[in-house]
Amino acid sequence: MNAMTTALTPKPSALDLDPDGLTELVTTIGQPRYRAQQVMRWLYRGVRSFDEMTDLPKPLRTALAERIAASSLKPSRSSRSSDGVTTKVLFHLGDGALVESVHMRHAGARNKVRTTICVSSQAGCAYGCAFCATGQGGYGRNLTSGEILEQILFFLREEEGQTDALPLPANSRPVTNIVFMGMGEPFANYDNVMQSIRALNAPWGLGLGARHITVSTVGLVPQIHQFTAEPLQIGLAISLHAPNDELRDSIMPVNRKYSLAELMPACREYVAATGRRITFEYVLLAGVNDADEQALELARLLRGLLCHVNLIPMNPTASSLFVRPSGERMRTFAEVLDLAGIPVTLRDTQGGDIQAACGQLRTSAQRLVPD
Ligand code: SF4
Repeated sequence: MNAMTTALTPKPSALDLDPDGLTELVTTIGQPRYRAQQVMRWLYRGVRSFDEMTDLPKPLRTALAERIAASSLKPSRSSRSSDGVTTKVLFHLGDGALVESVHMRHAGARNKVRTTICVSSQAGCAYGCAFCATGQGGYGRNLTSGEILEQILFFLREEEGQTDALPLPANSRPVTNIVFMGMGEPFANYDNVMQSIRALNAPWGLGLGARHITVSTVGLVPQIHQFTAEPLQIGLAISLHAPNDELRDSIMPVNRKYSLAELMPACREYVAATGRRITFEYVLLAGVNDADEQALELARLLRGLLCHVNLIPMNPTASSLFVRPSGERMRTFAEVLDLAGIPVTLRDTQGGDIQAACGQLRTSAQRLVPD
């Protein structure tokens, strides 16, 4: 076995285990069941090494470290927007794959500071949206639920100015919103994404309310149906970006598999079953999808649906073929939707100077979550 082979077979992440899985491991090692609860508490307080779990006997810490990894993500590069509110971090996974995550600070209701963490669910992405830098780079692999959770725990530690050696106080975390809107298509990694959401929500995990979590999809219809039937009240966002099949086919290859004739009924079923408002993401591309007629077509498509449209100014990347429309054009597009009775937001590209995550979508993350 050479060094390369070793690098490609990292130990599983401890955060991939739920309480049952950890209990099974701990009892297999010959330790009492309650030790699993202690380990779980440390993990969700952000500890990154078994040696820091100081109330565990040393032989157990050693045995755990031989079998699983307390942390598997290594932050390798971090950049902050010029206004200081958005931070993007590039992580190395255990096998060398790379993912990005973004942390944003923004004002919520009554001017309270809120934070949103935008996580990646895959290394790369297979869906090839024409306007997205990640999509142009191709697909790597699915992230495990532990790798998803670690992105969040990293920022929670940062948020409180903690170091790796100082576990987070259990009940002092800021109100945080999580959006699955980083690299990858979350519904193409459905089981791991849902496993991470259950851990985010569970009392033994982070205890975060489901309404503070939003999943964004390009429109994988079978998984939208599956998501609609989930017992948790998680938000849903659809990356729409075009008001008709012809245009959507040309910029989002997924539309050739799941056309608007399938996607829109699935969205309506989600709203009818959950009573939740659905969010539609719409990246504005100059001369492509930003005309008044397209705004009217979009309004017709969404009429009668409990929804909200996030208009996202194109955030050009070095290789992008697309251009951001003028401010006036974007405002007019928003006004046409507004006049047609469709709730709409046009956001600034906060963090645009650091080209934050998932090509384009990250900029709308703040609108997806409740205050
Ligand atoms: S926008 Fe999202 S789904 Fe589309 S290519 Fe980029 S990462 Fe993939």
